[in-house]
Amino acid sequence: MSMVKTRFAPSPTGYLHIGGLRTALYNYLFAKKHGGIFALRIEDTDRNRYVPGAVESLLHVLEAMGLQHDEGPILTKEGLIEQKGSLGPYIQSERLSLYTKYAHELLERGLAYECFCSSERLESVRSQQGIAKLPTKYDRHCVTLSPEERTIKHTAGEPCVIRLKIPDGETTFDDLIRGRITIHNQEIDDQVLIKSDGFPTYHLANVIDDHLMEVTHVIRAEEWISSTPKHVLLYQAFEWDIPQFAHLPLILNPDRSKLSKRQGDVAVEDYLRKGYLPEALINFVALLGFNPKADQELYRLEELAELFDIEKVNKSGAVFMTDKLDWMNGQYIRTKTPEEITKLSQPFLKKAEIKAPEEILIKICTVEKERLVLLSDLVEKTRGYLILPTYQANLLVWKKSTKEDARLQLQNIIPVLEGFNNEITGSSALIEMALREYIEEKYLQNGNVLWPLRVALSGLSASPAPFELLWVLGKEESLRRIHKAITMLEE
Ligand code: GLU
Repeated sequence: MSMVKTRFAPSPTGYLHIGGLRTALYNYLFAKKHGGIFALRIEDTDRNRYVPGAVESLLHVLEAMGLQHDEGPILTKEGLIEQKGSLGPYIQSERLSLYTKYAHELLERGLAYECFCSSERLESVRSQQGIAKLPTKYDRHCVTLSPEERTIKHTAGEPCVIRLKIPDGETTFDDLIRGRITIHNQEIDDQVLIKSDGFPTYHLANVIDDHLMEVTHVIRAEEWISSTPKHVLLYQAFEWDIPQFAHLPLILNPDRSKLSKRQGDVAVEDYLRKGYLPEALINFVALLGFNPKADQELYRLEELAELFDIEKVNKSGAVFMTDKLDWMNGQYIRTKTPEEITKLSQPFLKKAEIKAPEEILIKICTVEKERLVLLSDLVEKTRGYLILPTYQANLLVWKKSTKEDARLQLQNIIPVLEGFNNEITGSSALIEMALREYIEEKYLQNGNVLWPLRVALSGLSASPAPFELLWVLGKEESLRRIHKAITMLEE
């Protein structure tokens, strides 16, 4: 068998859908697993859907996600689009003359025909079929036009499309995920190959390109399954080898409706903007329809490529669970060093106009790391270290204690903190040791001391331990916050 080659063939709509990311990923994984080639092709022949800048943003996201393709358009450092690979161009709008050439070849061989029917006529055929409860399809009105009749229509400037003449019989293909699929050709419309504006349809361009680009495996979303018999018939008409097909399961909302914009974010860009890590998104999306091992959920890209098995992809829809994505994101954040997290959080802090010295940020990341779900969570957390959040005095009172006791405990701790030297305040472990010693010596209860101290320092009902807060805030700011708490308790 020739070398495995897959492709991701998005129509540039301006953003990458989560489902598109999974399609790209599975194509990537399949190619890597088999030592093959992963190509990217831009399917932009539908001029009505043209979005300026869409290709650039798509290339950006794919790059951010680490899904590097071996062939196809790439972005240069200057932001320009270049193409790599010897079978390009990989952008369909740059290949238009090819499609016309192949469509004319089919015309000459009598396998396709020109159709001059107006949209009004097609509409009335459709509505009559609807009334008669027949399947709606073209009635082949133009299939019998003589060369003379066609010439007259051409001379009169009548717009025309080119349609494939679907042969009798049935069409079968083997889907790697769904098994054998057979369909009666009667159910297939004489599909348009070239539209009246001279542009090819998706079907024609897709088949010609997959053939010329030597694609061996077409892995794509379930929604294309009904187009596949049309594609198979086109391959047969051209007498080309037919690639293997695999149609991926739908991605569903928890209520099992199709994942849609209405119910939440579907653009990968939105998830990145919210503070999800590319590794987490890749891991999460990989498991939408496939899990190599029953007892493992965290996989890096390389591991996924090793374990990927297209035949083990589920047929039934995969539910998108945001909770699981959040959990995964937290897991991946935890694998990073505080320095790395600090760097990754920069765009979020910048956007929120939060400025803090790097050493403070690293400290914040050290103590907050375990509690982060999103990178953007650092915005609020950092703000809390820079400016004490407002809170109610009764938050300072531990559930087994009193307002009076809270005030007393805070007052008593002031001289203890004042006595801390630089060595102690430079390590949260030493701070902890010193405070625990103090609690023990004075026969105090942890909660009586540590609760009001923690709240005084953070202003929050949940936060890192007071020792960590002290380490981040430093002695001076910590004392200031404690004094403020005491004043609040006096009111
Ligand atoms: N351009 C199609 C899309 O946007 C590609 C479908 C296919 O992979 O054949 O999804």
